[in-house]
Formats: sequence, structure tokens, C-alpha cells
Amino acid sequence: MEKTYNRLIEGNKKWSDEKSGIDPEFFKTLSQGQSPEFLWIGCSDSRVPANEITGTNSGEIFVHRNVANLVVHTDMNFLSVLQYSVEVLKVKHIIVCGHYGCGGVQTAMTNNDAGLVNNWLRNIKDVYDKYQIELDNITDEKEKTNHLVELNAIEQAYNLARTSIVQNAWKQRELHVHAWVYGLSTGRIKELGVTITGPQDLPNIYQYK
Ligand code: ZN
Repeated sequence: MEKTYNRLIEGNKKWSDEKSGIDPEFFKTLSQGQSPEFLWIGCSDSRVPANEITGTNSGEIFVHRNVANLVVHTDMNFLSVLQYSVEVLKVKHIIVCGHYGCGGVQTAMTNNDAGLVNNWLRNIKDVYDKYQIELDNITDEKEKTNHLVELNAIEQAYNLARTSIVQNAWKQRELHVHAWVYGLSTGRIKELGVTITGPQDLPNIYQYK
């Protein structure tokens, strides 16, 4: 088998040489610790790399990615990332970034049985179910999928705000939760006009006092 992975090792060498060339202390500084201002929750899709599309460097964004950028309250992996980034790193902004053309969202919109992943994608079906009247008014399939991508990012941002971790942080300090969407065909991020800044942005039943 062709060793295509060698390209990655070579690429890493070139990249690290370039970084050291610009700033000889770059890696030494990073090795001493991290204090990122942002937590990024994005899709695992290979076309949506958090640092690259935001023009940021190593050390600037704490990242969690999964299929269709979901915030699931029983996901220990996600909760661990959230707790560490909020309570220890004290990130100031949490960004949920969906993307147009998301395969997870597309599959969730069908009746296809995709196996185990159905259980994960069911969370998107719940979003569909909540906004079905609004979504079914859109006749263009692509437009409908894109709208669900946006609604999904917004709902996941609210899921974040419903966690005890985010609400505990709000008792002590400022923390903003944002919903964004990335366009694969444009390379541009669109803000969805949703920034959640405190429990007042949630329905009363979700607020912990
Ligand atoms: Zn995706």
C-alpha cells in the first residue's frame, strides 16, 4: 500500500520549521501552557477545521468536534471538554458552528436507516420535529437542509446554555454562547444572530437558581 500518510509527516516538518522560522520561541511558549479564549463545537467534517477557517493559531481555540456539532447532555466526552474549558481554562466564548451541506443533517432529514448513528442523529430529528411547520414550508430541498443546519446550531447553543456547567459559570462571570454556520462553498462564517449571555435568555424551567 502506498504510504500516503508520509505526506502528513513531511507536512508537519515543513509547518514546524516555518513556525520556528517566524518565531523561534513559538513551540517553547506553547509548551508552557494554554489559555484559549474560545471553545469551539464543530462538525467532524474534514472541510471545517476550526483553526484554519478562523485564521487562528495553535493555543487560541479549545476544540470539540463530533458528527453535526451536537451538544448532548449524556455525552461524557463533550461534558468533560465543556467543564475543563469553562472551569479551568475559563474560556469567554463558546461557539457552536454548523456548516451548510452537513452530511449528518442531510441523513437525519431522511427515513434512511443508517445503523448505530441513527441514535446520534435522532437529536437532529428532534430539532426537525420542533420546527417541522417552518421547515415544511420550504419547498427547495437544499434550502430546507440549510435551514435545518442553522436551526440545529441554534438549538445546540441553547443546549449548552441549559447545562449546569454554563449556568454555574454565569453565577460568577461573563460567558457568551454563539451560534454560527460555515459555508463550504464560500469559506465564510455567518453569525446566526444568537448570542446567549445568561439564564435570562432561557425559558424559566431551564434556569438553575
Ligand atoms: Zn457536518
